[in-house]
Amino acid sequence: MPDFHVLIGMMSHETNTFSTVKTTLEDFRPLYGQEIVENFRNTKSGIGGYIDVFEKEEIEYIPTIAASATPAGELINEDFWFIVNYITSGIKKAKKIDGVLLALHGAMVAQGVPEAEGTLLKEVKKVVGNKPVIITLDLHGLISDMMTENCDAIFGYDTNPHVDMYERGVEAAETMVKTLRGKLKPIVTHRKLPMVPPTINQRTTEGPMVKLLETARKMEQQRNVINVCIFPAFPYADVKRVGSAVVAVTNNDYKLAQKLVDELGEQMWNLREEFLKPLTPIDEAVLTAIKETQGPIILADVADNPGGGAPGDGTEILKELIKQKAKNVGVACIKDPEAVNKAIETGVRNNITMMIGGKTDDFHGEPIEVTGKIRTITDGKFIHRAMSIGVPADVGKTAVIDVNGIEIILSEKSHAPNDPEIFRRNGIEPTDKKIILLKSRGHFRAAYEPFSKKIIEVDAPGLTTPNLQLFTYNNLPRPIWPFETTK
Ligand SMILES: [Zn+2]
Repeated sequence: MPDFHVLIGMMSHETNTFSTVKTTLEDFRPLYGQEIVENFRNTKSGIGGYIDVFEKEEIEYIPTIAASATPAGELINEDFWFIVNYITSGIKKAKKIDGVLLALHGAMVAQGVPEAEGTLLKEVKKVVGNKPVIITLDLHGLISDMMTENCDAIFGYDTNPHVDMYERGVEAAETMVKTLRGKLKPIVTHRKLPMVPPTINQRTTEGPMVKLLETARKMEQQRNVINVCIFPAFPYADVKRVGSAVVAVTNNDYKLAQKLVDELGEQMWNLREEFLKPLTPIDEAVLTAIKETQGPIILADVADNPGGGAPGDGTEILKELIKQKAKNVGVACIKDPEAVNKAIETGVRNNITMMIGGKTDDFHGEPIEVTGKIRTITDGKFIHRAMSIGVPADVGKTAVIDVNGIEIILSEKSHAPNDPEIFRRNGIEPTDKKIILLKSRGHFRAAYEPFSKKIIEVDAPGLTTPNLQLFTYNNLPRPIWPFETTK
C-alpha cells in the first residue's frame, strides 16, 4: 500500500467587522503539532473527524496549527500572516506532502486582508502545486472566487445549529483519501447570490433552509456529485464577498457542478423573503416570560451574540427583567472581567453593589447598577456536552451574582452559552429556571430546545441585530437584497 501524507490545520474565525474589539493570536490560543491530536482525538469536532478517518485508513497526518477564536473584530495583520506562514512552512518542512486538509470558517477578515481564507488557500496552493487541497467551512462562510479557485473541494456544515462538524470532517477526510488513491478527482464551483439575509432564520430545522437542503440532498444522489452545500451568509462583515452562495463539488465534471449551483441558486433567490422574521420588543418579551405558568422560557438576546462577534455584555434585557421583578431567572453570560474580579474580592455568600455590563462599546446599553449576593466563583473551564462534544471550553473566571432571584453569570471572556454546561458549572440547574436569558442567536437551540417551553427572540440593540439597516456598509456589492430588491 502506498503511503500518503496529509497536512492538517485549522484557522477559524467569524469576523464581525463592525466590532471595535480587535482579535489577536492570543485570542486563538493556538494548538501546535501533537497538542492538536491530544485536544481533538475522540471529539465530535471537524478535526476529530479527520483524525478518525486517517487513523482508520492508515494515512499519515501532519498536524500543524489549530487556531480558533470567539467571533469579534478583525484579526491583527501580523497574527494572520503568522498562521498562514506556520501552515505553509509546515508544508515546506515536511519530507512528503500528498494533500492538505484545513478546517476553516469562511467569514474571516484580517486587517488589510478582506479575504482571509482565500489568501491562505492561495498561499497554500503556491507551495503544494497540484496536490489536492480540501477544506471544511462553517455554514456562515462567505464564499468567493479566490476560495473556490484555490481549493479542490469544500464541505460546509449542513446544520444550523452546527451539530455536524464531525460528520463533515469525516466526509472531507474520506474524499481526501479517495482522491489520493486515484478514485476521485474533485472539482468545486460556486454561485454567489445578490442577497444577504440576517442570520435569524437560517436554521436548518425550519424555514427556507429546509427546502434548500432537500434539493441539495437530492442533487447528491446524482452520479458524480460529491457534495452540494448552502451558505446563507454572515451579514456582519463589511467586505465585498458578503452574500449568500451555493457550492457544488463533483467528480471532475465542471458542467454538472455549474448546472447544480445555477439551479440551487435560483431556488435560494426565490425563497429570499422567507429568511426574514419579526422579533419581540424587550418589555413585551419579559412580560410574556413572567406571565407564562411554566418554564423555562428562553429569552434569546439575538443581537448581542458573542457567536457572531458581539461582546455579550448588553444590559437592556437584564435591566427590564430587574424592572419587572422577574424571579427564578438564569442569565448567561454578561462579559465583565472587572465585575468578576470584584465578585472574587467580595467572596461567596457576601453582598455587593456594583456596575455590570455595557462596558465594551456604545451599542449594547449602559452599565447597570446591581446589588446582590455572590453565589459561586469558578475558573470557567468545562467540557462541552452539546455541539463540539468532548472539546474543552474556557470562558475565563466566572462569578454568579444573585440579584433578587435573577442569577447572573459574569464571565471574564465573551461567551455564547450554547451549551447548558455553563449553568451547571456555575451551580445553576437550567431546567429548574422559570426564565433563561441567553446571549445567543440560535446555536443554543440544539441543547436548550428539548427542555424549554418557549423561545422568544428579543429585539434588543447590538452588533448582531437582524435589522441590517442599522449598519453602515461601505463595501457591500450593490444592489443586494434586502437593501435593494432588484436582482
Ligand atoms: Zn456558523
